[in-house]
Amino acid sequence: MSLHLDTVSKYYGSQAAVDDVSFEASSGQIIGLLGPNGAGKSTTMKMICGYVNPDEGSVSILGQETPEKKTDIRKHIGYLPESNPLYEDMYIKEFLRFACRVHKLNNWKSRVEKVIEMTGLGLEQHKLINQLSKGYRQRVGIAQAILHDPEILILDEPISGLDPNQLVEIRSLIKALGKEKTVIFSSHILQEVEQICDRLLVLNHGRLVMDGSVEEFYKSTSGKAQVFVSFDKAIDPSVVLAAGDELLKESTTSFALLTKNPTRIKQELFDFAVSQSVRISELTEKASSVEDVFKELTNKVE
Ligand code: ADP
Repeated sequence: MSLHLDTVSKYYGSQAAVDDVSFEASSGQIIGLLGPNGAGKSTTMKMICGYVNPDEGSVSILGQETPEKKTDIRKHIGYLPESNPLYEDMYIKEFLRFACRVHKLNNWKSRVEKVIEMTGLGLEQHKLINQLSKGYRQRVGIAQAILHDPEILILDEPISGLDPNQLVEIRSLIKALGKEKTVIFSSHILQEVEQICDRLLVLNHGRLVMDGSVEEFYKSTSGKAQVFVSFDKAIDPSVVLAAGDELLKESTTSFALLTKNPTRIKQELFDFAVSQSVRISELTEKASSVEDVFKELTNKVE
């Protein structure tokens, strides 16, 4: 197990920024940390990196508990903070060489070359950081985070503010890194998280409200689908509703039905139309989107 948080809490005054959070992670896993603003994502990441100490509970990295051996432990963690602080007036190589000195790396030449290759910075490597696009700055941030070849990589909002092309590139970089390392990254871009991650952790008001695969994420809530139906005459749709189904009325001829069993409802709507000699002019089904599930999880009253 590369990482273990055991009943971790962090308070700012009387407010719990992180409240009794426990989870484990192993290598070769990409974990998405989701949650609305202020949910405790950055604080959780800072505690994993040893920059913030938990008030309760413990964080263990490769079996060693922080904060007792912080310097040792930081060797195993790469961290890209949300703000991606870079020295703008440095050249990429100069900055990475500087970061090698901070990590006290002897083999800095080969490591700089390696991370430049891994992060696709080759063509830009002779540029000043302030001449780079946002996507390339993110690559430099990720490059500095992996210079010392850490087992655990913590990326705070690595894909925010990127254009669609840059998103694709950074997504495949994170995926490649996740093959060998434990990668934890936070994001507001839910579709991206869904595409990159093996596992999702959802925080809300500091509490872990969900820990599981993308499939489990969908199942963790009511998992209802929406069925839209339009008839050529006014009808009473309550005839097809079962316990747990919900009716969202749009007009006397068009309805949206929230259901756990869209196949049954569609079949019953067809049967109903045939038996009543009415025509169905439209019938569509929409699964719950990742946003719908996220809203449902984080709007729950704790
Ligand atoms: P997120 O990353 O999910 O947006 P944060 O971990 O940054 O959430 O913050 C969680 C809560 O802790 C927020 O209410 C935030 O205002 C509070 N918080 C974070 N850092 C500090 C701090 N240094 N001092 C006081 N409150 C803080």
